[in-house]
Amino acid sequence: MFLNDNGTLSLKIPFLEYRQNSPPQRICKELTLPPTYGFMPVLKTVTVPKDCRSLGDGGQRIEPGSRLRAGDDAVGDPRADLEDHDEERQREEEDERDLAEPRRGDAVGSREIEVEHRRAAKVSVALGRDKGASSRALPGLRSAREAHMADFSKSVAGNVAGEFFVDTTCIDCDTCRQLAPATFGDDGEHAFVQLQPRDAAERRAALRALVACPTGSIGTQPRAKVQEAIADFPMPIDEAEGVRVAYCGFTSPDSFGASSYFVEHEEGNWLVDSPRWSTHLEKRFEERGGIARIFLTHQDDVADAARWAERFGAQRILHRHDLGAQPDAEIVLEGEEPTPFGRDFLAIPTPGHTRGHAVLLARDRWLFTGDHAWWSRGKKRLWASRSVCWYDWGEQTQSMEKLLAHRFEWILPGHGERLHLPADAMRRELASLVETMRGIR
Ligand code: SF4
Repeated sequence: MFLNDNGTLSLKIPFLEYRQNSPPQRICKELTLPPTYGFMPVLKTVTVPKDCRSLGDGGQRIEPGSRLRAGDDAVGDPRADLEDHDEERQREEEDERDLAEPRRGDAVGSREIEVEHRRAAKVSVALGRDKGASSRALPGLRSAREAHMADFSKSVAGNVAGEFFVDTTCIDCDTCRQLAPATFGDDGEHAFVQLQPRDAAERRAALRALVACPTGSIGTQPRAKVQEAIADFPMPIDEAEGVRVAYCGFTSPDSFGASSYFVEHEEGNWLVDSPRWSTHLEKRFEERGGIARIFLTHQDDVADAARWAERFGAQRILHRHDLGAQPDAEIVLEGEEPTPFGRDFLAIPTPGHTRGHAVLLARDRWLFTGDHAWWSRGKKRLWASRSVCWYDWGEQTQSMEKLLAHRFEWILPGHGERLHLPADAMRRELASLVETMRGIR
């Protein structure tokens, strides 16, 4: 659908034409309607106006004055071009659903989270166990659940003028700054648009951030098509010896925008922590063989894990001490000894951030660290935060020290930036962090 410069509206829709003594015909590839038709939100039935310029197809003509009905009720064998259009419309509807999804759930998870790794002493956000606590502590999250898309009238003050904006429902989770660092900045309370995208690559990155945002706080004016940005997820991160690791995007407000990862493996695919439910991701996961296991690093980042598990018959893995978040998890980790899964995966209990926190080591290459360690943009080093340790900082330090016994090249965290270094350099970075952690009381 296009709004032309002269105010007319060009529509490209499939519909039925009804004529006396004739079966309905699917016709018309394009209509140009006068401006008075420009605000029809749902086109169900329209009488072609006398002054309408119409284009038929295959010799058929639309007669001015005839009644037309939108293609939803169409029957018969649609022609290829109409099928294309139907598929496009269906995809757009699915995209709408995907973008609406994070605002549908009830508030779950209960904790107070200080996201110090984004900026020291900056943000304290409460995700309350009960809805009342949640809404008191985090009004932006509550309102974002109820809204469908970002609201320009609630734009944060710092947005520079242009296509993209962030509204005040932002919970400052950092996802957009990780995906589109040139576009989004941090005013200490919210993300904001610090620089409008300067080229196609930056715009695509900003659209990915719009899709990944847990609260639907990023918008565009006019409303942009996001299909291609949605199709970018899961975003490949790394691949080695046939194992592929990707970032899921579609973050959930229930896990405060935590990152989740999809690992493709010949023995069965893994999800590490959970994205919000998305029909797009569902299709991509299905195409790639589904999900065999869902590793949950800890109780805060389970999001829609139960729904993913049910959909794909996956086994959820969670430590007993955090089992309250998924009491019916299929595999329960016990104690503090590592548990191997197949030839390439090792679940390592790492109490500290929470009592039941655990990390997942895959093929001695990728370490999924949950909320235990991440690359800090500000500090430019591997980092962990005392102020986001809910259980025991001493135990968290010991847990990190324990990881020195393993080799890996990647740190893939729940929050914060990823880190990729050669294994020896990674070990030095980790040793330095452990030393720093010991000095923090
Ligand atoms: S991704 Fe959304 S909620 Fe997170 S910081 Fe950006 S705008 Fe805010």
